[in-house]
Amino acid sequence: MHRLLYFVIVSILFIVACKPGPEEKTIPAMPLSETTNLLPVLTKMTSQDSQMLNMIMGKFYPEKNADFVTIPETLADRAGLYMHKDAYQAYVSMQQKAKADGINLVIRSATRNFDYQKGIWERKWTGETILSSGINAEKAYQKSQDRAIEILKYSSMPGTSRHHWGTDIDLNNFNNSWFEKGEGLRIFVWLENNAHLYGFCRPYTAKGSMRPDGYNEEKWHWSYMPLSQKLTDTAERYLENAMITGFLGSEAAVDIDVVRKYVLGINKGCRH
Ligand SMILES: [Zn+2]
Repeated sequence: MHRLLYFVIVSILFIVACKPGPEEKTIPAMPLSETTNLLPVLTKMTSQDSQMLNMIMGKFYPEKNADFVTIPETLADRAGLYMHKDAYQAYVSMQQKAKADGINLVIRSATRNFDYQKGIWERKWTGETILSSGINAEKAYQKSQDRAIEILKYSSMPGTSRHHWGTDIDLNNFNNSWFEKGEGLRIFVWLENNAHLYGFCRPYTAKGSMRPDGYNEEKWHWSYMPLSQKLTDTAERYLENAMITGFLGSEAAVDIDVVRKYVLGINKGCRH
């Protein structure tokens, strides 16, 4: 009997001693096919992706790009604005229906490439342009991250604007309050009810739990989803904060996490 008990105790001790602890779990070797994930991101990109990435960062000239068309002055507040041709076609259909319903849509801004955005950004960075809050960003903020966050309340960093894409437009007025009464409210309600029928979506809805990061609400900014959601997906896969360079203050892009917070910080309804 004692020998049996002795045998049972020794067996239990042996089993416990052989059971691997959490730190002893073996790490399976990475299959060769997965090691390619460790290579720089560019090696995974097709040439179509890298072309799309250049467009995402606004590194092209719309006037020289066959996919872009000029917007007639009758549809905008000035001549010389460009849009991607597919987005433009959809916009014209929407504008005509709006007009028939007594709603007068006016494009105030459309495609802005990297160089154009760099001009806007750097004038604010150096204090040459005073922010709409009345602040001179250059005088008020010494730390580049603080200055960039203040300017980001009103303008995108070059390389991160949806206006680079040719899919996004600003309509009628740049003040949210204008869209809250009278003609502005009628336009806003019409767009909220009808824009989706033409593929347009509003990426900068009110901030809150559904959209914690990114730009403040913009009731004037609309995006042509059939194209822009593909560009957003490509940005999510390939665009990195370190790629956002080539202008004053670009060193803040990484600390701010500008890609995740601003490029991807949009209304989820504009994703899929
Ligand atoms: Zn806009």
